[in-house]
Amino acid sequence: MGSRPNASRIKADTIVIGAGPAGLGAALALGDSAIVLESRETVAGLCDTLTLDGAIFDLGGHSFHTPHPAIRRLVFDALEMEEQNRDAWCWLNGEWVRYPFQQHFSELADSDSRHVCQIGLDTAGGWQDAANFDEYLDRRFGRGITELFMRPYNRKLWGADLTRLDTEWVAERVAAPVGTAESSMSESGRRSPIPREALIAYPAKGGYGEIFQALAQRVADLRLRQCVTSIDPRTSTLRIANGETASWRRIISTLPLPALLRLIPNVPPAISSAVSELEALPITIIMLVLDGRYETVRQRIYCPDKNIIGHKIVLNHNSSHWLRRLPRHGVQVELSEFNPLSRSTDVRSLVNAVVAGLLRMGVIPSPDYVRRTKVLRIPFGYPVQTRSRSNIVALAQHWLSEHGIYTVGRFGEWAYINSDEALYRGHCVGVKLAVSERTQCGGTPRQPAPVVGVTFDT
Ligand SMILES: Cc1cc2nc3c(=O)[nH]c(=O)nc-3n(C[C@H](O)[C@H](O)[C@H](O)COP(=O)(O)OP(=O)(O)OC[C@H]3O[C@@H](n4cnc5c(N)ncnc54)[C@H](O)[C@@H]3O)c2cc1C
Repeated sequence: MGSRPNASRIKADTIVIGAGPAGLGAALALGDSAIVLESRETVAGLCDTLTLDGAIFDLGGHSFHTPHPAIRRLVFDALEMEEQNRDAWCWLNGEWVRYPFQQHFSELADSDSRHVCQIGLDTAGGWQDAANFDEYLDRRFGRGITELFMRPYNRKLWGADLTRLDTEWVAERVAAPVGTAESSMSESGRRSPIPREALIAYPAKGGYGEIFQALAQRVADLRLRQCVTSIDPRTSTLRIANGETASWRRIISTLPLPALLRLIPNVPPAISSAVSELEALPITIIMLVLDGRYETVRQRIYCPDKNIIGHKIVLNHNSSHWLRRLPRHGVQVELSEFNPLSRSTDVRSLVNAVVAGLLRMGVIPSPDYVRRTKVLRIPFGYPVQTRSRSNIVALAQHWLSEHGIYTVGRFGEWAYINSDEALYRGHCVGVKLAVSERTQCGGTPRQPAPVVGVTFDT
């Protein structure tokens, strides 16, 4: 791993753009036929970690959990991981209820609220035919659960209009209500929402980014500080910010689709215009360095409460024993673009509002614990799964693949996926290209021996 000496022209069979999970997955499948170009000084993309005054933060709370056995083996072989039970909570109207709310509303103190949730659930139905996410919530959970938790929480995250979201992603992301069996992830190989007390993993030492640092060591040719600035499919070349050019036969891109299309000349207007309608949700992370230890085992707090700033709170120091032993602890609050404070330039007021919320919840005992804060804006935080998204992505991917360009990953496919899935999908694209290669060249059309042993099934 690391930068290579400059050459006037790079030649590669396949160029992988981006060394986040999807790019690394693709590169591991392609071995020495691929060169990875990454614009930043480090790998990991959205899974990167930063250290602030001795406290460790990830770019949004991250933990590892996967339905793909080969991806689990890949990660656990690459570095030491620590597993622990997930410990997630909801905070609403001044009380704690275990997460997910739809399975634990019986913990509410108020008997009327419990009753409304149960009656709503008993009469709910027909969610399989829901036309959009908003309708899905009512039909799946009934009025009580939807009004107390689901709608306010999701509006805090996705904005007021939940009818613009499709329901394609919900089976993987939104837990079923109490009393409903969900298939086990590892048995089915397909993702279902992480159960509350599932085993989740995190690097035994350091932050989440360590996983991808370790995987990057296995990549044959990875070049950092190489920002791709243009791609010309007619000449099969691309340009890098430092002035170098590269020739390629195929590109695997993990860039956000609109950013990729902007690099390519003569994209048909119908495609550029469709892709410009994809919606990305920027998020703001407010990081607080706490002086001294704060003793709680909670890892995540999901917060529909309007009076608390942020929809999700991550107590990152509880992600591993190693983090817990550090003298300074990191707490991070995630704020959606839809909260006007996220766009305010008045950072002090934002931080004060966040601290006030944490005090109200008892997450921090006193403002004196806060030694330092940092506010970070992530422009591409969540790909919004709008109802038009699948058709737009299919249209763009079809045109790009005719020009030898394949896109994968969270914003490459505009899919609300986690890092393990991005790694898996990147690897699958690499394997798929290697298989089609052999077939086209008259070789035996057989499964290649992928580096990580993932069975190709997409
Ligand atoms: C708040 C939040 C919480 C999350 N929580 C979890 C979690 O708990 N567990 C989990 O598994 N996942 C989680 N995720 C999701 C996870 O971070 C992503 O799914 C994953 O990082 C996507 O990988 P990717 O490779 O598709 O994209 P990215 O990670 O975005 O990687 C893309 C790479 O491309 C590079 N790049 C961009 N432009 C160029 C260019 N012009 N030239 C060269 N390189 C370029 C970027 O620098 C970057 O390294 C979370 C994400 C967020 C935002």
